[in-house]
Amino acid sequence: MNYTGPVYRPPYEANTLLLQVTVGCAHNKCTFCTMYRDVKFSVDKMDQVEKDLQEAQANYPSVKRIFLVNGDAFVLSGNRLKAVAEMIHKYLPEVEIISMYASINNIMGKTDEELAELKNLGIGDLWVGVETGLGDALDYLNKGASLADAYEQLERLNKAGITFFYGFMFGAAGKGRGIENAEANAKLINQVKPLGIVPTTLNANSGTQLAKDIENSAFEMATEGEVLEEQKKTLELVEVDTYYMGIHIINSVSFDAKLPKEKQAAIDRIDSIISDMDEALLNSVPERHTI
Ligand code: SF4
Repeated sequence: MNYTGPVYRPPYEANTLLLQVTVGCAHNKCTFCTMYRDVKFSVDKMDQVEKDLQEAQANYPSVKRIFLVNGDAFVLSGNRLKAVAEMIHKYLPEVEIISMYASINNIMGKTDEELAELKNLGIGDLWVGVETGLGDALDYLNKGASLADAYEQLERLNKAGITFFYGFMFGAAGKGRGIENAEANAKLINQVKPLGIVPTTLNANSGTQLAKDIENSAFEMATEGEVLEEQKKTLELVEVDTYYMGIHIINSVSFDAKLPKEKQAAIDRIDSIISDMDEALLNSVPERHTI
């Protein structure tokens, strides 16, 4: 299989066949992100995609799920995605779900008719990195779409029947705003009812605008204690049936939970971690593992 430059996929897609359709990230401007910073975005040629599918057919003829890489593969036009999906079904007829990362902007670039067609071709379980439900924090993160866009576009996915996971970050609004961020995320989650909610935690990666803003005191990171309280509050406020998918290594407390059934156990677990944690650590901003 052909992979160019860094390739990222959600931890939950660890056993999924990765098919490259783009290189890098078309947006590549988020304040906090270094994932594809040094990679020039490009779209793979269809004959390369076909070669990879022929190889996949020879080696994994019975795969049921495919994840399209890279950073925002849903940026491809509706027509290109349809062509890719049709080719996948030609070579791998047992594929049921074609998943990928998608931004709010990528959804805006598709008509309702295109979304419906993509759904019928098996495109679903999109990993949508919204990051925060707070408008000003979202603007600061420079995702390229507003909060109103997020509400509208996620509802469009629902209307088309395309399932999605809601990606967001604890600490995204900075110091002193964790509870506000939890309330805003929960409001959006309760409205758009994602299949799963996928938290990570804001980290100041060196070389980013975020790191510069921290150095210039224009942004202050949330402390460990605030991040844990935000995590707890988010769990408390999410009222819909969904999966809490929090195993990313960047998180202070990593676990999965079925909501609402396992909500109380998850909250109790965070409470016990807070009460066992050293005061100095609770008040610090720890260096987090990145990938
Ligand atoms: S967070 Fe996602 S959309 Fe933003 S620059 Fe990084 S890969 Fe691209």
